[in-house]
Amino acid sequence: MTNIIFLGPPGAGKGTQAKRLADQLGLVHLATGDMLREAVAQGTELGQQAKAIMERGDLVPDDLVIAMLMERMADAAKGVILDGFPRTLPQAEALDEKLSGQIDIVLLLEVPEDELVQRMLGRGRDDDTEEAVRNRLVVYREQTEPLVDYYSGKGLLNRVDGVGDMDAIQQRITDAVSQAA
Ligand code: AMP
Repeated sequence: MTNIIFLGPPGAGKGTQAKRLADQLGLVHLATGDMLREAVAQGTELGQQAKAIMERGDLVPDDLVIAMLMERMADAAKGVILDGFPRTLPQAEALDEKLSGQIDIVLLLEVPEDELVQRMLGRGRDDDTEEAVRNRLVVYREQTEPLVDYYSGKGLLNRVDGVGDMDAIQQRITDAVSQAA
């Protein structure tokens, strides 16, 4: 079983690279942002609760996101690539408990802040208004960045330069994963 976490600010390219790595390794790619957008599109109870929060660029409450993810992890026996989760310390702790600490590597995709804003504004997603984009960066710094220390303390953190050609970034990730194996 291989469990890999993609960490990094919004707009760093976690989605693209997590999908590529999942295909490469034959693992399930679980993206909480995609799941939440699906719930919003389907108008489920969770989607109705999450919609306005996502539009502001705030985080959906831990209990809702944790329950949603745990349900989807049930049928991923070979392991998972997590993209956009965990985003808070309580989420990280819930994940450790679920996996009994079995996390192989945490990939931190690093991209300078002005490039992040440009990338997000170019994506055209519903929650990519300039105000929401700026708020997502503040939320990242305040609530998610502490996970860098959390995983670095466990010896799991690998920093990857997220700037440049997508294939080159993918190669950096492949190298980091094979070194950690
Ligand atoms: P993403 O596609 O990962 O950028 O996520 C889009 C939005 O979904 C975020 O701005 C949050 O509002 C919400 N979201 C995604 N993942 C999480 C999470 N792990 N915890 C809380 N909110 C989340």
